[in-house]
Amino acid sequence: MRRTRLFLPTLKETPAEAQIVSHRLMLRAGLVRQSAAGIYTWLPVGYRVLRKIEQIVREEQDCTGAQEVLMPTIQSADIWQKSGRYDDYGKEMLRITDRHDREILYGPTAEEVITDIVANEITSYRDLPKNLYNIQWKFRDEVRPRFGVMRGREFLMKDNYSFDLDKAGAVHSYNKMFLAYLRTYSRMGLKAVPTAADTGPIGGELSHEFIILADTGESEVFCDRALLELPAPGPDVDYEADLQPLVDTWTSHYAATDEKHDADACPLSGDQLVTARGIEVGHIFYFGTKYSQPLGAIIQGPDGQQVTLEMGSYGIGVSRLVGAIIEASHDDDGIIWPESVAPWTVGLINLKVGDADCEATCERIYAALQTAGVEVLYDDRDERAGGKFADMDLVGIPWQLTVGPRGLKDGKIEVKRRADGEKSEIALDDVEAWIAERAAS
Ligand code: ATP
Ligand code: MG
Repeated sequence: MRRTRLFLPTLKETPAEAQIVSHRLMLRAGLVRQSAAGIYTWLPVGYRVLRKIEQIVREEQDCTGAQEVLMPTIQSADIWQKSGRYDDYGKEMLRITDRHDREILYGPTAEEVITDIVANEITSYRDLPKNLYNIQWKFRDEVRPRFGVMRGREFLMKDNYSFDLDKAGAVHSYNKMFLAYLRTYSRMGLKAVPTAADTGPIGGELSHEFIILADTGESEVFCDRALLELPAPGPDVDYEADLQPLVDTWTSHYAATDEKHDADACPLSGDQLVTARGIEVGHIFYFGTKYSQPLGAIIQGPDGQQVTLEMGSYGIGVSRLVGAIIEASHDDDGIIWPESVAPWTVGLINLKVGDADCEATCERIYAALQTAGVEVLYDDRDERAGGKFADMDLVGIPWQLTVGPRGLKDGKIEVKRRADGEKSEIALDDVEAWIAERAAS
């Protein structure tokens, strides 16, 4: 992408309405603009990041055998009346009346929609287990939307729903999600702490929240310091063989949110107990037959008897993650994206637009990066060098290549790594090899 063509409105001044650093940086780096309270338009750079996060979430769900569907944003009130949640859900639900005076709503979550589908379509135990997910916009009319996309009213969520024949199967499905979540966050450069949580309006008996530690977080967590050092399960983990031991290791360490924390029951003391604030980036629940019973997700079991399906539901705040990653990874100059979610991997800066040599070299590197499949933002604007460097840092591009007349005289360009600011020079002859290295990682 050429910077001269890109729609990227950056701000020099810190926006007054933004209280936390991720919100400030998302506005300054031109990722989003507010359309109404808690409702945002995602501009090109922000949308690229959002889609990368979405893709990691999708790949890790697919690894577990979960299947993607797309449910509607607008739901019928009928199914919510059946589950009994229509009245319980309260003012967070945006209720709408259509032209025929029928009650509909903008979905805050989708247990009812998917359970209704499964109730109609799955009739035999042979079709189980099933785990269906979607990545779709949700609406909750939060009392206090704040902190930008962290607590929006409209937000993007990955939600999935598992259907099993019995409790053992449901717990197995739950454990698979537990592992998938750890892998998902770790691929985004985040350390997520799974904490025992209250089940809230979704209901049920087994639940964990996944929390990123950050001072600006809205949740309070109490956890074992050892949890912060546990390595997240890698890409080669076996979802059947490794599952139980891994989940046991993670859940054997104490971790609880403030609602669940019990100072008397907590086994930790002194330095071992970490008390911190955190951002909830995911929440998983096992809740048995809470929805399958009223919505009639009842099938014929192996012995011909009627079995009410055992369910769980699992959410990840995809749009909240954009803010959470920035909270976890930034400095005074701007965002520091982990490569896995960066809008572009490489920023290419032409220090002297109009100089034939600089232009030709930049064009050559730009083309080589694209051919190698390395995503590149090429700053080809005729502007001061200082402004270009500042923009690359603000937007947080992981690698910055600078081409200037002085370096070119010696046959060199400069490389800067955003994460630690480390600079080095590479010879023009070695640029291809450097690009190949980026393409491989
Ligand atoms: P919270 O306690 O933050 O309100 P919740 O318990 O209501 O969250 P869930 O219903 O479990 O959230 O939703 C799944 C995930 O969706 C949450 O873990 C969070 O990451 C995200 N999420 C929930 N509400 C919002 C919101 N208003 N804005 C952005 N993301 C949200
Ligand atoms: Mg909530």
